[in-house]
Amino acid sequence: MSIRLFIANWKMQKTVQESLQFVNNNLEKLSKLKHKLIIAPTAPALTALHQLLKETDVALCGQNCSEFKTGPYTGQVSAQDLVESGCNYVLVGHSEERAASKLTNEQVVEKTLRIFEAGMIPVVCIGEPQEIRDAGTTQEYLEEQLYLIKRAIQGAPLYIAYEPLWAIGSGKTPTNQELAKIFDTLKLFMQGCAFLYGGSVNQDTVQELKKLEQICGFLIGNASLEFETLYRLLQE
Ligand code: PEP
Repeated sequence: MSIRLFIANWKMQKTVQESLQFVNNNLEKLSKLKHKLIIAPTAPALTALHQLLKETDVALCGQNCSEFKTGPYTGQVSAQDLVESGCNYVLVGHSEERAASKLTNEQVVEKTLRIFEAGMIPVVCIGEPQEIRDAGTTQEYLEEQLYLIKRAIQGAPLYIAYEPLWAIGSGKTPTNQELAKIFDTLKLFMQGCAFLYGGSVNQDTVQELKKLEQICGFLIGNASLEFETLYRLLQE
């Protein structure tokens, strides 16, 4: 069995107290998982979770970071803040953040560079909306999202999470045949990167998705919120 990476994206769905309870109530099981778990809680929960998780191999991931290193940017969180709060990974350009902040691909690059500079690993999220899938231009759309990053990182290793927008929270996933084709092409386009799949990974879909040889893990939203549900995914 190859060890896979599971990133639990809690979005804004747990308070600090709920995040701490999740870990506190399950510390024993979290200390001996079969796969690598990375939790992405809200930023205010990071430092306390970091303390709690010290005895485990569970890592922490920021959900977003500023494109700026430091300065008068009220409300933003810098990459350095995230390192000092215990993160090793940061999500960049999640589709919810791309939509809410009208993020450009240029900003995604700047964030990615700040994360590298701070010594963390970026997890760049890409994915096409339904209309692009319907038009049959998914591959072009994804390469457009990655083009500037490819130029900027010059072969530095990062994770790319492919999350079709129509699959997020919908219960629908692409077929393995569709995914294999997409990941094969992305692998050629972004050599040296590692790939994750996200979008309705749950008890019903995970077995089939685990057969994909092109990916090293999953980005999980809904199915990561309840401990036993997540634990079952991690144990299989
Ligand atoms: C996500 O939003 O990153 C995600 C993968 O969500 P879900 O697993 O709920 O589809």
